[in-house]
Amino acid sequence: MDKVIELRRAPAAKSEARTVVILGATGSIGKSTEDIIAGADGAFQVEAVAGGRDPRGLARVARALGAKFAALADPSGYAELKEALAGTSIEAAAGEAAVIEAALRPADIVVGAIAGAAGVAPTFAALSAGRTVALANKECLVCAGPAFMRQAAASGAKLLPVDSEHNAIFQAMGDAELATIEMITLTASGGPFRTWTSEAIAKATPEQALTHPNWSMGPKVTVDSAGLMNKGLEVIEAHYLFGVEAARLDVLVHAQSIVHGLVAFTDGSVTAGLASPDMRVPIAHCLSYPKRISTAARRLDLASVGQLTFERPDFERFPALRVALEALRTGRGLPTVLNAANEVAVDAFLNRLISFHEIAAMVEKACDAALADGVSHEPDSVADALAIDQAVRERTRALFGKQAASSLFMH
Ligand code: NAD
Ligand code: MG
Repeated sequence: MDKVIELRRAPAAKSEARTVVILGATGSIGKSTEDIIAGADGAFQVEAVAGGRDPRGLARVARALGAKFAALADPSGYAELKEALAGTSIEAAAGEAAVIEAALRPADIVVGAIAGAAGVAPTFAALSAGRTVALANKECLVCAGPAFMRQAAASGAKLLPVDSEHNAIFQAMGDAELATIEMITLTASGGPFRTWTSEAIAKATPEQALTHPNWSMGPKVTVDSAGLMNKGLEVIEAHYLFGVEAARLDVLVHAQSIVHGLVAFTDGSVTAGLASPDMRVPIAHCLSYPKRISTAARRLDLASVGQLTFERPDFERFPALRVALEALRTGRGLPTVLNAANEVAVDAFLNRLISFHEIAAMVEKACDAALADGVSHEPDSVADALAIDQAVRERTRALFGKQAASSLFMH
């Protein structure tokens, strides 16, 4: 009976439907993407979905969206995935190669919503095949930005920003020439610790770090947001995506998360992107770009919001932002190092192996060590970036002497 209900729920694709692949379909961005597609009246046809290690969740979304192919990264979940898809014509596969296969299935647009550097290889595969990529997975650009941007230019593939700040900036920029842009500003909500003292932040628990005031997101990006490392990663993401140097990238703390990004021009004009804090808005924008579709996202009512406040970020209380901005200014592969060390440190924090303030300290140590050794250099390919990533992970794990669960973000 379940099957009948789910098959009926799968939207019937229209002949002019856009074909979509969703990488990271069982996560937070994946679920918002599912919601947009399910409500889009057949405007999209889902070719393939991929996930980490939740076979039942992956089977559910594959059925709900009428996907043709479901790929699970974790090979041990294959039997369960197959069983959960029994009675449908959805093809099941598991392992890293299966995720790459999903990324390469014929599609008009690939949603890159895997968490962490695990998304680099499949997302890069889609880009190399010339697919338009709607990119939520910012770690792709932080880890291997130059290779991604070069590949996009070479294959003619479009890279559309799903991250709300970058999406707002992308919309606010229009087709302005880069030389006419004086400053690009990304806003940050400030997270759950915005008003806390340094001492309180240092002792924050995973439960406290996982409680975000404005957004509901996966665990890694939520912890990143609590320490403002997320904003640091996003400034690096903006640097590669928009081709703008660090000196023209700014951060403002804006607790209401209504204004997501601003662009200031040489004539004194400023344009900004505003919306309710709901990831369905930028996802819908990317899926339908350059057209627009209707969504059920909460409409922005500025009168009821009342006040919009802005303040400078506090680098003392939020050292992760300082460390990330320094990595961008230094270059020489430090963004790759930063990203890898941060994934290990966040993982360790969520496993209660280190305290909250040790996340930024550990990342800074990893960056200093990479510079001191002279091993760090601007990676010139994805393989090069992933080799640096792997080496830094091993060294960072060795710093606390224990092996944290390496795949905590895979669910
Ligand atoms: P999440 O943890 O909720 O979901 C991650 C998804 O990736 C899951 O489907 C998981 O199964 C999948 N995954 C993990 N490892 C995989 C692998 N090796 N192969 C295939 N799939 C794998 O995370 P999220 O909050 O949806 O975030 C996803 C990305 O989007 C992150 O890079 C995050 O920074 C970015 N982002 C998220 C939000 C948000 O609101 N959630 C906003 C902006 C940007
Ligand atoms: Mg963001």
